[in-house]
Amino acid sequence: MDHLSGRQGHSPHEVDAGQWVFTGDMQDRGRFDARCAWCRKADLRITFEVRQAVAEPACHVCQVCLGRGTAQVEHDGRVLEGAERSSHVSELVMRLMHRTCRDVLRDLMARSDDPALPEIAVYFDRNLQLSPGHAATLLLALSKSGLDADPAIFQVQLRSTAHRLEFAGLSEREKLALWPVLSPAIRNRLIWLGFAPQRYTTPRQPGARLRPARLPAFS
Ligand SMILES: [Zn+2]
Repeated sequence: MDHLSGRQGHSPHEVDAGQWVFTGDMQDRGRFDARCAWCRKADLRITFEVRQAVAEPACHVCQVCLGRGTAQVEHDGRVLEGAERSSHVSELVMRLMHRTCRDVLRDLMARSDDPALPEIAVYFDRNLQLSPGHAATLLLALSKSGLDADPAIFQVQLRSTAHRLEFAGLSEREKLALWPVLSPAIRNRLIWLGFAPQRYTTPRQPGARLRPARLPAFS
């Protein structure tokens, strides 16, 4: 049996000694390559450091695991519960993600004299997301800059009709710059609307969407 430690791979439910506590330390890796030490979920951008009061090395866990309540979350000397706890954690996440994106924007502005970038930074500060037009300008500048930053850290507004129409009006080059950072659901929606970049608008075979994209149960 595994010794109780902060070693990766533990389920919190197997831990029977000591209270896990969120230390307040979070990490935004600026890319999607972290893994939760408890549920093993991969491709995480943000992790939370938790530690047992009596122990040893820390674990880095995902927001879902932190939200389950196994680890205590404190603020201003109080233990938070329920909705108060979730909104506190969400706010910490938003703040951290904003700071990481702002650091990338700052570095980008130092390397580029594109006059649109300061305006984009102001828009981002207000909305914490980017309109499709702003995102396209930013991502094209980022790809030219040589900065080692994952463009997917910037969230693009594509839920409203107005923003989808804005996407439809972008040039092919701009659409292609945005395409890799969009979620599969948003991409499918844009394909369905006929707004996708041309290379992604090939009509599907009837029934093709119904084909299960699952791995076999046994290999
Ligand atoms: Zn997890």
